[in-house]
Amino acid sequence: MIKVAKFGGSSVADAGQFRKVRDIVRADPDRSYVVVSAAGKRFADDNKITDLLLLVNAHIAYHVDGTPLLKDIEERFSEIARELGVTYPIEEKFEEFSSVIRSLSPEYIVSRGEWFTARILAEYLGFPFLDAADVIVFHHDGTIDMERTKTRLKDAAARMGRFVLPGFYGATVDGTIKLFKRGGGDITGAIVARCLDATVYENWTDVSGFLSADPRVVDSPRTIHRITFDEMRELSYMGASVLQEEAIFPVREVGIPIQIKNTNLPEKRGTIIRETAEDNVREHLITGIAGRKNFMAVHIQKAHMSDKVGFLRRALSVFERYGVSIEHAPTGVDSFGVVVNGVDVRETIYAIVNELQQELKPDVINVVDQLALISVVGRNMNRRAGTSGRIFGALGEAGINIRMITQSSQEISIIMGVNNADFDRAINVIYHNFVESEMVEMPSRGDAQ
Ligand code: ADP
Ligand code: ASP
Ligand code: MG
Repeated sequence: MIKVAKFGGSSVADAGQFRKVRDIVRADPDRSYVVVSAAGKRFADDNKITDLLLLVNAHIAYHVDGTPLLKDIEERFSEIARELGVTYPIEEKFEEFSSVIRSLSPEYIVSRGEWFTARILAEYLGFPFLDAADVIVFHHDGTIDMERTKTRLKDAAARMGRFVLPGFYGATVDGTIKLFKRGGGDITGAIVARCLDATVYENWTDVSGFLSADPRVVDSPRTIHRITFDEMRELSYMGASVLQEEAIFPVREVGIPIQIKNTNLPEKRGTIIRETAEDNVREHLITGIAGRKNFMAVHIQKAHMSDKVGFLRRALSVFERYGVSIEHAPTGVDSFGVVVNGVDVRETIYAIVNELQQELKPDVINVVDQLALISVVGRNMNRRAGTSGRIFGALGEAGINIRMITQSSQEISIIMGVNNADFDRAINVIYHNFVESEMVEMPSRGDAQ
């Protein structure tokens, strides 16, 4: 078995967390490839090293002295190294880095968060260190050169047997450092798992798996033990941020499951994410709920709209001209809506509405602001007729007005719009009516994994 174990920032926030990581790695000899993020928060209002390094860049850009900030970062690393008895000359190396900082690119500077963390972890585990700049190869357009990356990773694995690799960055063939999006250590882990044909991609974090709702909105939500890639993608896109939303692609394409585990409670089962997830015994109707606030919807009505060729396309092209990406476009017979991110249209919404008027001459056009979208996700919903009706009924009884409804094409999610102000309450109503209380007997389909 080959296991790739990625540890997030909270798993290496201080020396105590490093000790937990070592116990986990030692507990299973199959865990030979370790990917690590930069040290994260030790407590709620602490700073992530990555955020501090971004701040260093801002200091440089505005010609403000960043020395005290660099000292703070150095102190965090050297404290960890000191407490663990690691001999890597962290202070010397960090000072070398600081002394030439003005000649370095912003990406390079930010990447040192994972680089130094991985250096310390490698020595502490007794594993060789492998620099991501040597194996994670980016094209110049920012996408991954999977062929080259695979060759280099396979080579390194054969040569070294095991390694600790910093996440979140890589380099182009000419050596220029490139970063993934925030939270991108999850993507590095997935790429390593794919290229080394791992049996499983373990993602170690600070929660015991994927929760069925955001713990800041619902009190102690249930853990989801099994979830499909599709469900997970819907939920993470809508704000369930435990795994970077793009991290599933590299492993999904080759059928490697992802396991979310808690570094602080390693004995907990966690969540397994794979293509199908049924055990055909007892299945939940709703897998999870996620949502985001601050959307805006434009509703357009015109009699006999469905007969007019290109009507919807013309409407969407107005948004395109303003560079606004569309989240959803629920359509009816003579009306449709366009849902966009409120921030994207803050300055242009009146100009957009004006052009829609000119272009389409609609009977009615109106704008709904302060809209929150809630996505209720469940692979079993399409097998139970009337689920959406029951959800709307429960919200209606609680006096919550639904401003918009749409369903994903595979029918694994129902997305509804409510006022921002009703957001938390709506999620709690759905959670308590359907997730907490309900277990459903599902028919056996014999395709369990
Ligand atoms: P790491 O430092 O390991 O990369 P992240 O902070 O990126 O960890 O992701 C874990 C966090 O995601 C949790 O601490 C939790 O606050 C948050 N989170 C948001 N929604 C969910 C959810 N549905 N299930 C689990 N965690 C969630
Ligand atoms: N350290 C990076 C971040 O904070 C990447 C990661 O944590 O995965 O975004
Ligand atoms: Mg993360």
